[in-house]
Amino acid sequence: MIDKLVKYIREIYSVKESFLPLHEPRFLGNEKKYLNECIDSTFVSSVGKFVDKFEAMICEITGAKYAVATSNGTSALHIGLVLADVKQNDLVITQALTFVATVNALKYTGATPVFVDVDKDTMGLSPKSLLEFLKENTSFIDGKCIHNNTKKQIKACVPMHTFGHACRIDEIVEICNKYNIKVVEDSAESLGTTYKNKHTGTFGDMGVYSFNGNKTITCGGGGVLVTNDEALAKRAKHITTTAKVPHKWEYDHDEVGYNYRMPNINAALACAQLEQLDGFINNKRELSGLYKTFFEGQENIEFRIAPKDSDSNYWLQAVCLEDKQARDEFLDKTNAEGIMTRPIWTLMNKVKMIGEFIQGDLSNSEWLEDRIVNITSSVRI
Ligand SMILES: *Cc1c(COP(=O)(O)O)cnc(C)c1O
Repeated sequence: MIDKLVKYIREIYSVKESFLPLHEPRFLGNEKKYLNECIDSTFVSSVGKFVDKFEAMICEITGAKYAVATSNGTSALHIGLVLADVKQNDLVITQALTFVATVNALKYTGATPVFVDVDKDTMGLSPKSLLEFLKENTSFIDGKCIHNNTKKQIKACVPMHTFGHACRIDEIVEICNKYNIKVVEDSAESLGTTYKNKHTGTFGDMGVYSFNGNKTITCGGGGVLVTNDEALAKRAKHITTTAKVPHKWEYDHDEVGYNYRMPNINAALACAQLEQLDGFINNKRELSGLYKTFFEGQENIEFRIAPKDSDSNYWLQAVCLEDKQARDEFLDKTNAEGIMTRPIWTLMNKVKMIGEFIQGDLSNSEWLEDRIVNITSSVRI
């Protein structure tokens, strides 16, 4: 099967011998035109018309009322948590099965992570696991969700839409609303993905997307925070831009701010890429169709299709092997053949630098950790 797959991938990408990365960016539109325009304008840094245009385009694509461009997805997540009033001595719930950036952003606030399980089908935070954890381990006191053992407040929850497939975000938001927990959606991977016809990232109080080099579209490095709350959006803009009090010449700052701005030159690239988003996603959905057909007849390997209600961008294509041994064999052979493949992330509760954490049952996360592998996912040209 692996030999057949290697042959098939080389065929559908029309790449005979050379190395095939997991996910390459594609620059097929107005990238050079907008970059030239941006350089000619001299506004290459933290303000400029491309930043404004980029934010407007994100609002249009996602349906969110407000968008605030940031230097990357991690900084957008950090700001989301700051705006959710997450501080040292607070707790934040997230999934153990995620990219490290989710937990890094959480750690910047000084809060302690609480890891709950994911659903096997979505690979994203499980509302069932979340509710079980809250019922068994917390008390609702004076409008606050207090963790019984540590007496710390759970301030926020960060569900993640794994590989672009939506998690059961509507149920998660409903539970969090009941417990007065703010939801910051880590939609870094899911730009263009809708759940029940609503864009991922717009269910919670805030949502975050990334434009890193390996994402569906890229601007080199960049991120954005979306929300429907005007006050949150204003404060996001303010604290990501050094919290400067507006004045013609005086430099005054009313709180410790961040330099988390997206430079205009990156925004120029982002605008050109956003124009191609629909085309890229159609291409990726087509690719998933090809893989689905290819794997239909194969034993002991399953191609992961988007779960029910999720109209996925298919950012990274994934297969599920029989067990860890089969996974390692698959990784060994494909990579040796020059086809880059990669296992899903090591669970965050196993990464030492994370330090202290609290966890619920993680059996689905562990099951997936041993079996899920990403295969070639670039847009085919
Ligand atoms: C890519 C990614 C991020 C962070 O984005 P950067 O722009 O690289 O900082 C955060 N969370 C998840 C799940 C991601 O995949």
